[in-house]
Formats: sequence, structure tokens, C-alpha cells
Amino acid sequence: MSASPTEVDVLVIGGGQAALATAYFLRRTHLSFLLLDEQAAPGGAWLHGWDSLRLFSPATWSSIPGWPMPASASTYPTRAEVIDYLSRYEERYQLPVRRPVHVASVERDGDRLRVRADEHVWRARAVVSATGAWSNPYIPDYPGREQFVGVQLHSAHYVDPAPFVGQRVMIVGGGNSGAQILAEVSKVAETLWITPEPPLFLADDVDGRVLFERATERWKAQQEGRTVDQPIGGLGDVVMVEPVREARSRGVLVSERPFERFTEHGVEWADGRRADIDAVIWCTGFRPALAHLGELGVIEADGKVAVEGTRALKQPNLWLVGYGEWTGAASATLIGVTRTARSTVSEIDAALGGH
Ligand code: FAD
Repeated sequence: MSASPTEVDVLVIGGGQAALATAYFLRRTHLSFLLLDEQAAPGGAWLHGWDSLRLFSPATWSSIPGWPMPASASTYPTRAEVIDYLSRYEERYQLPVRRPVHVASVERDGDRLRVRADEHVWRARAVVSATGAWSNPYIPDYPGREQFVGVQLHSAHYVDPAPFVGQRVMIVGGGNSGAQILAEVSKVAETLWITPEPPLFLADDVDGRVLFERATERWKAQQEGRTVDQPIGGLGDVVMVEPVREARSRGVLVSERPFERFTEHGVEWADGRRADIDAVIWCTGFRPALAHLGELGVIEADGKVAVEGTRALKQPNLWLVGYGEWTGAASATLIGVTRTARSTVSEIDAALGGH
């Protein structure tokens, strides 16, 4: 146990793209700051994506502030290219990231916040939580799930289709993860795709760029107090990347509505219809990873923190960056996080009496 806490102006919890973008702007202030990341290496959640994962937009649409992502050999950068970019970004700007450090709790300490991690304690004038969602995968509560004897895996831990060769695999979830994992698993296994609603497929010639453009429109409208009438489409719509188009041509991109309950060896619908399955891959998304903020009493019933912009309403020296629409339009994407990282740092600078 360290004798006394280390004092710092701003402590950023996390070491993924949101934390790095925040650090980029903190470097331009006179504030002292430090990033604490539980991963052993740079890259944040990209360290844990599946092997074939690629971005759904070109490199020019996937940059964080300052230094653009280098062009990829292919149109859509690979996961390894994103990790390389984030690693080199940290080096380039000499960002002070300490790893691996898991922050266990943030507590009030007068007008400061006390951040505890392993055997170390910091006292910060402001804390930015940028912990993403990867460590908090969400699985919906279907009756009988515990009696199902097959394998269950969340997309957070999916690597490649090899373990599923020759099996009957149920993929649950109609977003990009579900469609992409279905596309490759269906080459080696019999698949059943369950989505609560029919998935929303974008047109073949549209990629993530359109989603970002729409998010920017929404952001501008929000700033100006307008509402915008957009075509149906959000960051969760399925981008028809090549493997997904190929799956469609094989006729496997067909989804069914949810079943009623699990049985020991499969699932059963309300009308009594049954399907036998060997494995389930849950592509059902994530919830913000906020356990470290539990003691502050700021987490609401919906699992989020009430914010104005990115500042916690119940804890004025706490900011949250990169979690999703509730912390800024498209803020959980590479290109989208810059806007909120910039405004967050300018608020912190002003709050701490910066220059
Ligand atoms: P993360 O990358 O998760 O970083 C948070 C970091 O904080 C992690 O290193 C984590 O381990 C650490 N951490 C968490 N809790 C603690 C703690 N208590 N103490 C210390 N450290 C902690 N975006 C795009 O722009 N383009 C795409 O094509 C795209 N494709 C995607 C595909 C998939 C399958 C997924 C899941 C996401 C995709 N995204 C895409 C979205 C987005 O870019 C990522 O989710 C991104 O990783 C979010 O960055 P982040 O920094 O907020 O969180």
C-alpha cells in the first residue's frame, strides 16, 4: 500500500480510443494527467475482437484527433491495423498510460476524487471515465437458459468459426456483430439466426460513412435545438460488407423471431415448434462498464450515468467519454469520439481554472 495518494489534476480511466482522444486534448492544457488502463497492451477493446473483424469505414473515416489513421492495404482496415494505429498514436504523443492497472473504485474525498487501483491510490481534481463496454457483455434473459447443456459464447469472446465445425449454431442478435459472425460460422456449421425484429440492412453501396454523416447531422440539430427527419438508420444497421453479401448469396442471411424458452438441447417457440442446437453465440451487445463508479452512487436504474453533455449531473468533477449516444452522437466510434473528447477537456480546463 503506497504511503500517500499520488496527486494529479485529471485522471483518465481507460486506455482505448476514447481515453487517448481525451489525452490528446489534455496535452494542450497546463493540467497534469494520467491514464490508467487494465489491458496489458495498447488497443482497448480492439485487442479482443474476432480474427476476421474489419472496420466498416475506410481509414480516413476512422481517425482520432491529430494524427490520421494510415491508409490500409485494403479499403477497410483490419483489427490489427487499428491496434497498430492506437499503439503508435500513444507513442507519437507520448501519452502517459499506466498498464495494466484495473481501477476498482472512485470515491469522494472533499472536493477531489480518490481513485483506487490494486495497491495504489490517486487523488484527482477531475476524473474522466473512458472504460468502454467490452468488459460488460449483455445477454438477454431467456427462460431456461441455465438448463441448456450446449456451449454459450458472447461475441466479446468469439475468435473464429473453428470450434463450431459441423455443429448446429444459433446466433442471437441482428446488428453488425450478428451478421458478420453468422456469415463466417454458416460456412462451417448449420445456423439459425434469431433477431427480435427483422434486421435493417443498408444498401450494398453504403458503408459506415453514411452512418457517421447521419450522426453528425443529428449532433448539429441537437446543438441548434432542431430535430432532424432521417431515414431509418443508426450505427447498429447492418453494413453489407463483402462476407455478409456473400452469406446473402448463399441464402443464409435469413432471421427468425425469438423463441419462448430454452430446452436442454435447444429452443422452443410459443407454438410448440422446437429446434435442436449445439451452441449459442450471443451477439446481443454490451452495457457501459461502470462498476468502478458504484460507490459514487451515480449509476441510474438504466445502468448509465445522468450527464449534461459528458459531465455527471450528480458528481461535477466526473466526466464520461465514449460510451455511446448518451455521451455524444457517435462517441463510441473512432471518428466520432473527437468531438466529445474536445468539449470534455475544454469543460475540465475551465472548471479547474485552466488557461
Ligand atoms: P474500449 O476500447 O473498450 O477501451 C476502454 C479501455 O478501458 C479498455 O482497455 C478496458 O480494458 C479499460 N477499462 C475498462 N474498465 C477499466 C477499469 N475499471 N480500470 C482500468 N481500465 C479499464 N467503431 C468504428 O469507428 N468503426 C468500426 O468499424 C467499428 N466496428 C466495431 C465492431 C465491433 C464488433 C465492436 C464491438 C465495436 C465496433 N466499433 C467500431 C465501435 C468502437 O470503436 C469500439 O467499441 C471502441 O473500442 C470503443 O472505444 P472506448 O475507448 O470507448 O472503449
